[in-house]
Amino acid sequence: MNARETLKINKKGHLEIGGADCVELTEKFGTPLYAFDEAYIRKMMRIYRDTLYNEYGEKGLVLYASKAFSCKAIYRIADEEKIGVDVVSGGELYTALRAGFPAEKIYMHGNNKLDYEIGEALDCKIGCIVADAYSEIDKIDAEAKKRGMKQKILLRINPGVEAHTHAFVQTATTDSKFGFSIQDGTAEKASIYALSKENVILEGYHCHIGSQIFEKQSFVIAVEKCMRFAADMKEKHGFVMQTLNLGGGYGIWYTDEDRKISPEGYAEYLQALISAVKEKAKENGLKLPYLLIEPGRSIVGEAGITLYTVGAIKEIPGIKTYVAVDGGMFDNPRYALYQSKYTPILANRANEECTEMVSIAGKCCESGDLIAVNVSLPKAKSGDILAVLSTGAYNYSMAMNYNRNLIPPCVLVKDGQAEYIVLPQTYQDLTRNDVIPTRLQKK
Ligand code: PLP
Repeated sequence: MNARETLKINKKGHLEIGGADCVELTEKFGTPLYAFDEAYIRKMMRIYRDTLYNEYGEKGLVLYASKAFSCKAIYRIADEEKIGVDVVSGGELYTALRAGFPAEKIYMHGNNKLDYEIGEALDCKIGCIVADAYSEIDKIDAEAKKRGMKQKILLRINPGVEAHTHAFVQTATTDSKFGFSIQDGTAEKASIYALSKENVILEGYHCHIGSQIFEKQSFVIAVEKCMRFAADMKEKHGFVMQTLNLGGGYGIWYTDEDRKISPEGYAEYLQALISAVKEKAKENGLKLPYLLIEPGRSIVGEAGITLYTVGAIKEIPGIKTYVAVDGGMFDNPRYALYQSKYTPILANRANEECTEMVSIAGKCCESGDLIAVNVSLPKAKSGDILAVLSTGAYNYSMAMNYNRNLIPPCVLVKDGQAEYIVLPQTYQDLTRNDVIPTRLQKK
């Protein structure tokens, strides 16, 4: 069970999220179902926002990395909490704008933004575009010129620090499709190139060193490298960095192999970054930049769970027991993609002792369609409600219609009451865009 106030076990022995009984949620909304605790999401947004303002003054902004979970309601929450967002596609930008999110507080990422996405960003007067290639600088410049405007940009730079979970490495050259490398001089060349463009305003730099990172030191080293680079740019070219965006990547609890960080504990990551920025600004004779961070997973990840109904159970003597659920890689492809680990519990028998090691299988026609492997559970039976914890980030946003399965709906729970924020798909949704050419039509 995670450490959060998000989840509890009630007197009936049922799991609760945000004060709502998960079994009752499934009776009302069916399964599979994504459920999110609004209080937790708001709490995380506030912790980052307040820490930034308290430690750095209002000279910065927290951006929610909306790729973690994008739908209209989450942009409304971010707006109410007075933070910004980042988007990585025209689709995310469209969703944010349709939710009434202020364009000036949107930052756009992506390693290969399409012409029309850049056009849409400029048309809505987006706050800033993070350019990730020479061709993007050209496109932004050309599209801005067409519109008689100047567009603020950051350059995504690669500080040569790569971090994942408990380990980080410093590399001389980074093999990544993202960013301009500091070490090989590309970041400097790209900066000079951007500065030569008439219709873009180079505000500064962005870096994001990885995901699910627990090691504070890796963030601090990235800050040091970015600040040193900014100092070099000032000394060599007179360019003064106005803005520094340090990305996201703070790790969350998925299983007991991960650290449990209290919501307040995440403030320490930001404090460490802020101290490093202040120290390095002083050391390098730089003014303090406008500071941005972009947490995604740590805001919504532990706020969300997925509820399934257990179906077929297959015991293979001496090998393994598969407990199949009515979802799978189409609502959570993360095991199939990265062998990500999750903690499942039986939501209708949450107090019962775990007596079995099982693997949780999905319903797709794919052997790799698994949600969790070798996890302990009470003896499951068909009809049980299985909750998979910490699925709020990169689950719904990565969901797909493989095998023409329906992407589950999302509900948002506040004070024990749940409402849809994403409606269930229907079979009609699946065939809406299908076209049968005349020659194939049934005569
Ligand atoms: N910013 C950028 C540029 C990213 O690529 C990502 C994730 O991939 C994030 C922010 C959010 O990272 P996380 O959800 O791990 O906080």
